[in-house]
Parts: sequence; structure tokens; C-alpha cells
Amino acid sequence: MTDPVETPQPASTVEPPAAPHEWRPDRFMVIVAHPDDADFGPAATAARWIDAGSTGWLVCCTSGDQGGEDPDLDPSALAATREGEQRTAARIVGYAGVSFLHQPDGSLANDLPLRELLVREIRTFRPDAVLTQDPEVVVYPDGGINHTDHRAAGLAAIDAVYPAARNPMAFPWLARSGLAPHRVRRVYLFWTTAPTAWVDVTATIGRKVDALRAHATQIRDPDGLAARIGEWAAGDGARIGVAAAEDFRVAIIDDDEVDTEAETVSEADAGSRPD
Ligand SMILES: [Zn+2]
Repeated sequence: MTDPVETPQPASTVEPPAAPHEWRPDRFMVIVAHPDDADFGPAATAARWIDAGSTGWLVCCTSGDQGGEDPDLDPSALAATREGEQRTAARIVGYAGVSFLHQPDGSLANDLPLRELLVREIRTFRPDAVLTQDPEVVVYPDGGINHTDHRAAGLAAIDAVYPAARNPMAFPWLARSGLAPHRVRRVYLFWTTAPTAWVDVTATIGRKVDALRAHATQIRDPDGLAARIGEWAAGDGARIGVAAAEDFRVAIIDDDEVDTEAETVSEADAGSRPD
């Protein structure tokens, strides 16, 4: 043995503190696989942005019709219940509305039909930022597996944002029927293992817990929920020196100074949505 004093020490793995992420979209869309994903995900960030004046829209690719443990349960009935739970939670967070794409739970595929549905949503609502699940995570550091639907939804959302939503020749019948191309400037990936941004959600973490309580079919331990969510948020908050944060991997596709006005439609058009 050499003298311990001379033993090389491993480089510190403690990362320097990050600055809180302050950029805020005027309009944002959250795209997820299942009802409750958005509320376990970026609900407190969504609530913070909405409180500050942003408008948010939620898109659920499936209605969670496999989200139970009873093989005799009617999947259609479960889907209807879960859509109701999600609508209640979305009202608590403050979203302007929710779209359900009614894709099959457990079998979600990043295919062209799903991409077209998402391009329709994006070109209709016209968000500055899209928040979705990080599709590159298959196994989490703790050994947990990232659900196949989460990966499919995340990849489909990214592929819909870029290049399809901004390309008039992608699904050209959409542009011909009035859904003009739209440039989403940023993508925020949540449930990531490679975060680059931390949003201070100290003021809205309680709303996230309230929204999650609306998912009664999915919450097995309602009494322990606040503590569990608070623990996660505190861990992320420590990175920026606040009590609670949510973290994201952010892709900036277009800088803010890029003028996209030429390709946007009128506010009146942007505000109308098909049923
Ligand atoms: Zn899920």
C-alpha cells in the first residue's frame, strides 16, 4: 500500500449548481402516451407557465385502456373513466383543453398514421414548445423499464415536430385543407436521464399532487403521494438550490430571434380547433 495521502482521488462527481430555467413559451403542447403521464411528468411546470400567462394543451395518444389488473374489466369502460380523470386533472393544472387520439394502450407505434394525427394537433394549436417523454431512455439507472408506449409517444412527438409539422409537403392534404405548416421552436423531454434544464416549481408542486389525485384508478397510495412527489421534486430542486424543480432535456430547434411570423396563420385561425 502506498501512503493514502498519495493515492489519486477520483474526480468529484458533484456537478456545479445550475441556473433555474426561465424561458417560457406563449403556447405549449404536452404530448404523452397515457392519461396520468402528463401529471406524473411536467404538470408543475405546466401550471407555473399557465399561471404566468402561457396557454397549454394536452394530447394523450391512448386513453389507458390497459391500465388495470383485472382481465375481466371492460377496456372501453376503463378508457372512458380515465379520460374523465384526465380531464379533471387538466382543469386543475389549467390546460385550455385535452385531445385524446384513441390509439391502443400497450400497442402504441410511432407510425405514419400517428404522426399525421400529431401534426394535425400541432398545426391546429400551434405551440412554441412541445413537451414529451424522452424516447431514448429504455432502462433507468434504478433498473426500471421505460414503457414501450412512452418511448413510442416521445419519438412520434419529435418526428411530428420536426420536420413534418413545418414541412408543407408532409401530409400535403393537411396544408391544402387549411392546416398551415407550423414551426415548433423547442422540444422539452421529461423523464430523462440527461437533463439540461431545471424549472423551479416550488409554487406549483401542490397543484401537481392535486392533479395526480384525480387519477383515482391509478393511484394506489394516495396518502403517500405528496411525500413521494415532493421527494422527486426536492431531488431535482437541489440542482438549482430551490425546494422543488422538474427537469428536462431541451432541444432548441429555432432560436427566438428567428422570424417565423411569415409562416403563422392568424390568431383567429390559431384559436379554432376541430372537435
Ligand atoms: Zn404511462
